[in-house]
Amino acid sequence: MSQGVAIIMSGPSGAGKSTVCHILLKEDQNLSFSVSCTTRQPRAGEQDGVDYHFLSRKEFEKRIAEGDLLEYAEVHGNYYGTLKSAVLDQVQQGKSVLIDIDVQGQRLIRKACENDADLDSASVFVFFAPPSYKDLESRLRGRGTEDEESLNKRLANAKGELEAWSEYDYMLINHKPEQAAAELRAVIDAEKVKVSRVDLEQGWPYV
Ligand code: ADP
Ligand code: 5GP
Repeated sequence: MSQGVAIIMSGPSGAGKSTVCHILLKEDQNLSFSVSCTTRQPRAGEQDGVDYHFLSRKEFEKRIAEGDLLEYAEVHGNYYGTLKSAVLDQVQQGKSVLIDIDVQGQRLIRKACENDADLDSASVFVFFAPPSYKDLESRLRGRGTEDEESLNKRLANAKGELEAWSEYDYMLINHKPEQAAAELRAVIDAEKVKVSRVDLEQGWPYV
């Protein structure tokens, strides 16, 4: 059995990460989404336990204290964190998992990889970018989920986030969701058959 792939995806808010994840998740039963914890309020249509685990600050801090999080960071004024259980269990079972985290969270995962050989060999880092800053603004406005203050915070943070693209293994420019989804699918498929990810402990099957 091959080890699963942990696809760590970052990019500014509005780049299209959720849109592309939804396309891939619909196509592939063996792919899961790492449902993060957050202290931000749910948007219309978002479901607790599906899009995020929506927690109070106190509940989030309890998760930190109990060591449940692989990483966490304060993003646009709220806590966001990845559950260890959402990633490590999947990968060990040979399943791949999509992880949507900000640039700081990606750096924390890289640090965690230094002391965790399994996480290190499973992790692939993918950056999502919009075709232009103007497109990012119009997509974020068009989504209609943010008030003016949150929108401005996200657009201001986007500049720093976009500068981090070269820290990643792959760069996807989201011109069209279907095309970006096909590119991400190609990355995952290629990563799955990497020699370093094939487990031959049970013996070479061809002799
Ligand atoms: P993120 O998860 O990165 O914050 P979303 O997936 O929510 O971004 O996308 C932001 C908005 O842009 C959504 O309204 C989405 O429908 C739209 N969108 C996503 N990809 C594209 C695209 N390639 N072209 C035009 N609009 C897009
Ligand atoms: P949103 O509020 O738009 O859903 O997400 C805002 C930002 O938080 C995005 O950049 C997203 O990648 C990031 N994010 C979502 N989940 C996590 C997480 O578990 N950890 C970290 N560090 N960032 C996250």
